[in-house]
Amino acid sequence: MTTPAPSATIRDLRESVRSGARSAVEICRETLARVSASDPALHAFHTVTADRALARAADLDRDRDRWRDAPLTGVPVAIKDNLCTRGVRTTAASKMLETFVPPYDATAVARLERAGAVVIGKTNCDEFAMGSSTENSAFGPTRNPWALDRTPGGSSGGSAAAVAARLAPLALGSDTGGSIRQPAALCGNVGLRPTYGTVSRYGVIAFASSLDQVGPVARNVRDCAYLYSIIAGRDLCDSTTVELPAPVALPEGGDLKGLRVGVPRELNEHEAIEPGVREAVQRAIELCRELGAEVGECSLPLSVEYGMPCYYLIAPAEASSNLARYDGVRFGHRASAHDRLEMYERTRDEGFGDEPKRRIMVGTYALSAGYYDAFYGQAQKVRTVLKREHDDAFERFDVLVSPTSPTVAFKLGARTDNPLAMYACDLMTIPSCLAGLPGLNVPCGLSEGLPVGLQVIGPQFSENTLFRVGRALELALGFDPVPPRLAR
Ligand code: GLN
Repeated sequence: MTTPAPSATIRDLRESVRSGARSAVEICRETLARVSASDPALHAFHTVTADRALARAADLDRDRDRWRDAPLTGVPVAIKDNLCTRGVRTTAASKMLETFVPPYDATAVARLERAGAVVIGKTNCDEFAMGSSTENSAFGPTRNPWALDRTPGGSSGGSAAAVAARLAPLALGSDTGGSIRQPAALCGNVGLRPTYGTVSRYGVIAFASSLDQVGPVARNVRDCAYLYSIIAGRDLCDSTTVELPAPVALPEGGDLKGLRVGVPRELNEHEAIEPGVREAVQRAIELCRELGAEVGECSLPLSVEYGMPCYYLIAPAEASSNLARYDGVRFGHRASAHDRLEMYERTRDEGFGDEPKRRIMVGTYALSAGYYDAFYGQAQKVRTVLKREHDDAFERFDVLVSPTSPTVAFKLGARTDNPLAMYACDLMTIPSCLAGLPGLNVPCGLSEGLPVGLQVIGPQFSENTLFRVGRALELALGFDPVPPRLAR
């Protein structure tokens, strides 16, 4: 696979290093200075790896000939703190892993470093990626760079805030039920949930294994596609991965002639959608038509009605199994106790926050003997039905569009007392996750001065089509969302 040329933002950075106009160390210093100045107010980062990043940048500068043609030489990246980084604390925003230092890198991180990227730190997230606002972090919430009293969304809220606040041009997140797209929407970034199986989960702290995906967050569609091209593909360390059927094509922009765009009624007319969000999304859909696409209505009735209940059985069931490993014996937190049983109990009581505990209880119940068929088994069958409903829609349409989030960024604390209100944030993103499909968030306007995101969903392995649609829209909209605090 030939590596495509980098996009403007990354290209600027990379070209400046390649031509010798700037050193990787200079870029790294500048980035770290921005992080020190802005991050105390935002808390996008848990851990800033300043010394490691500077040492790495110095290595790149020293060995310029070797790194000259690498795709990301000297480009700073931020990594969600549920991806393992060798020698760097990786917490999944849980007290359980507060002191955990992994002995290896996640494959996605290793691929970025092999491409010449410089990891500048680990970003805040909801505990074990469970949440939609980053408020479930055991280390305090992240604030939205557009309005500091609002959440950046979640669970990859730190990654989205870091990119929106220009603390890093690129970041990695993970998406189980919407955790890349929803924060990207609330912060005004481009974010991709890739097709299940295209990006390795080796070294990703597991939440719900049949749903978890790693993906890119960037400032524009080309950078997002570029980052995806670097992390995607088969990995021998993760048997669920596949090789991409076609290389990633960096989108040039242009018209959308020949493209069939479906507008699922239930996802676009849902009562939870705020009027300002609806308007911005409708304008973007109209623009698809102006760009030459054929736009038509369709329906996903079962996906919207049963997606949430199905997800909130499957995800907690798998989470309860994945979190069973945190018992105080092998790694992470260990409580002091008189005997082994008490040690297990106290470790889990002290180490897990409320949301993981809630899901462990629901999930253990759903998997228990006598209930398995009625709950987990039944949810898996419903999931197959939802997948078929999407397959049917893709017989008539190449992509489906809707708001990514029914609302703009909400106030910190607004939903923390009501888990169901928090779960409802992912109404629009969950159905495609259950169906294993890729989805892209493209910023499409502002409502109440806050970013609105358009979600573009496609069949499996249709990332190139999503990038094409996203790029065409981003150019036609001419919208480069910059938080007011940063606009000069
Ligand atoms: N908000 C959803 C949840 O809490 C999705 C989280 C995610 O995608 N990691 O499960």
